[in-house]
Amino acid sequence: MREHFEVRTYDGAGRLGKLTVPRSGVTVETPALLPVVNPHVQTISPAQLESEFGAEILITNSYIIHGSDDLREPALEEGLHDVLGFSGAIMTDSGSFQLSEYGDIDVTTTEILQFQQEIGSDIATPVDIPTPPDVSREHAEDEWATTRERLDVAESVDTGEMLVTAPIQGSTHPELRERAAREAAETDLDLFPIGAVVPLMNEYRFADLVDVVAASKRGLPEDAPVHLFGAGHPMMFALAAALGCDLFDSAAYALYARDDRYLTVRGTKHLDDLTYFPCECPVCSEHTPEEVQALGEEGRHRLLAEHNLAVTFGEIRRIKQAIHSGNLLELVETRIRGHPTLVDGYRTLLDYADQLEATDPITKDSFFYLSADSARRPEVSRHHDRLARLDVPDDVLLTTGQQSDRYDASWRLVPPFGPVPRSLSDVYPLTAESPERLDRAAYEAAATGVERLVEDNPETEFTVVHDGWPAVALHRIPDRVTVYDLDTDSGDE
Ligand SMILES: [Zn+2]
Repeated sequence: MREHFEVRTYDGAGRLGKLTVPRSGVTVETPALLPVVNPHVQTISPAQLESEFGAEILITNSYIIHGSDDLREPALEEGLHDVLGFSGAIMTDSGSFQLSEYGDIDVTTTEILQFQQEIGSDIATPVDIPTPPDVSREHAEDEWATTRERLDVAESVDTGEMLVTAPIQGSTHPELRERAAREAAETDLDLFPIGAVVPLMNEYRFADLVDVVAASKRGLPEDAPVHLFGAGHPMMFALAAALGCDLFDSAAYALYARDDRYLTVRGTKHLDDLTYFPCECPVCSEHTPEEVQALGEEGRHRLLAEHNLAVTFGEIRRIKQAIHSGNLLELVETRIRGHPTLVDGYRTLLDYADQLEATDPITKDSFFYLSADSARRPEVSRHHDRLARLDVPDDVLLTTGQQSDRYDASWRLVPPFGPVPRSLSDVYPLTAESPERLDRAAYEAAATGVERLVEDNPETEFTVVHDGWPAVALHRIPDRVTVYDLDTDSGDE
């Protein structure tokens, strides 16, 4: 049991939680964004992150501080909170990124953890090996073995109240990610970053990202707080939150600004391509793109960073509200329209509908059927499972039209769910709202529900009355069922 993390509400695998950070006495509500603060270059000061953007936690790099003559002594003497001017929780990275970039660093896990402890970090990181995507299984296993040893070292270092992370590696091998997650969770370390996924995000490989995250989640207990390391673009936060990621960090707000790039929840724009700002934040309300383009480099980058942060924090709030309202998947379905590779990510997520279903609340406010993808949501498969547990009489009508007394029972037939007994008609998710012009996937899912019910009840006579369902759906209904089409049959049964 990890006492510093508590999940309060689930929506699918997405969750609202509380991360208690004992060393700073701060409680961080999750999902949370950790702005990345470069100790040398602060486009926006940590104090401003806290006062204007509501940042409760940030992340900075202890390895850079350790290696800097200007920063090391002040950090050791005054502590990181005073040096940065930030009263929230401070997480520190260890130099693993530098290790992956330059192949070598000059500290060990023990040294850098002790240094993080000495400068007053609240959440510290050991030196793990960030194994990139697409390496061989053997290569990934060898590097995980090294990371695993360093987690043992991290466990043995006296770090007091400071929380310590246990990064999960394993490249793009889902079984290895799952095993790595399980082994990381077996340590007494506190927080679980899913590492080395930045190349997947940079290359828009969201399907592969979902496979990696879903595998890592399978290896972790529910009380493990999960950090998607390097996840900085708000267009993919909803998808990642739906998988159960609790912490995101953003260097993108500043890095993109320095390149005159403007973040939106639908993707990235270049400042030079904008005639209007599609945003309500103070920067975009008070300036036109033309005005910002005319500024000098420093002013331009600063305003863009402020906008980028506003969008990034705004999306985190939207995700929290969506989890609270139980419509996170509706938000995901909206967000994925920003890029075709995000659609692939969502479709991959729905491959894990059972995994999402395990923590999904039984009842929520509403289910909106928004696209063919909605037919694969966990609520649909849960309804099909529920059909198997129902008492079914000898002779049953399943109909999209009028009910009839000529049968022992007369149930509605509702795409995408399938058969709906009267007792469940007003129960979530059967109160779903769907477009009248449904896609084939909705009918196919409904027919799958019929198939499940018929197969589970071999003694029962079934009659299906539908209104012009497509052949691809009707093929799924077992041959022994009597089927009428209201659109073409005369209607007298
Ligand atoms: Zn804006």
